[in-house]
Amino acid sequence: MEIISFHKDNSILEKKIGYEFKNKDLLITALTHSSFANEHNGSKNINGRHKDYERLEFLGDAVLEMISSDYLFHRNPDMPEGKLTKLRASMVCEPALARCARDLGLEQFILLGKGEENTGGRERDSIISDVMEALIGAVYLDGGIEHAKTVIFEHVLDDLNGNEIFKDSKTLLQEIIQSSPFDTFEYRMAGEEGPDHAKVFMAEAVLDGKVIGAGKGRTKKAAEQMAAAEAIDRLKGKK
Ligand code: MN
Repeated sequence: MEIISFHKDNSILEKKIGYEFKNKDLLITALTHSSFANEHNGSKNINGRHKDYERLEFLGDAVLEMISSDYLFHRNPDMPEGKLTKLRASMVCEPALARCARDLGLEQFILLGKGEENTGGRERDSIISDVMEALIGAVYLDGGIEHAKTVIFEHVLDDLNGNEIFKDSKTLLQEIIQSSPFDTFEYRMAGEEGPDHAKVFMAEAVLDGKVIGAGKGRTKKAAEQMAAAEAIDRLKGKK
């Protein structure tokens, strides 16, 4: 394992997440798996030179929960508590976080012990998603809640394609449209691309003959849900 290259590379990670750490040690800690800390400290010792990410993960988990709750609460004004809880769980679950982390190439920056490295730890969702949480915790500690919020919005909540969050966009859009004086609304298929086994469908949300949202997805329904979400943003004046 080449430790030095990891330290050099961290500035690339900072660029990717759009946040530059004042305290670079915090970033290194966020990327340090206990197996690496153990190997380099001799024993697991919080006062050792290498700290692992577990405490930052603890913090990041709470920050992520708070920011995503706030987001869902405001985005879905009429959604009951049970549904909000389910939605949040789907957004911050291990596979979802691991997917966001892989989009950043985060796995390349993790400091792993040899044992973990040899048994595929770098590919494991559990580790990758924990590092994502630790990274959020580190940004929060270093830069405060606003910077943490920006990172979460851009790299977690923005990763909406195929995510559970689109499940209720069609319903929500229908409610919005019913309460306004527009005449006609329909979803239109706008094409498809890719081979049969990996087809991507494109859909448009059309209000009074005008396209107000477009979406892509593995299924027609998923494409419509994404189009609905964009249409909601537009109707609410966000875009
Ligand atoms: Mn975790």
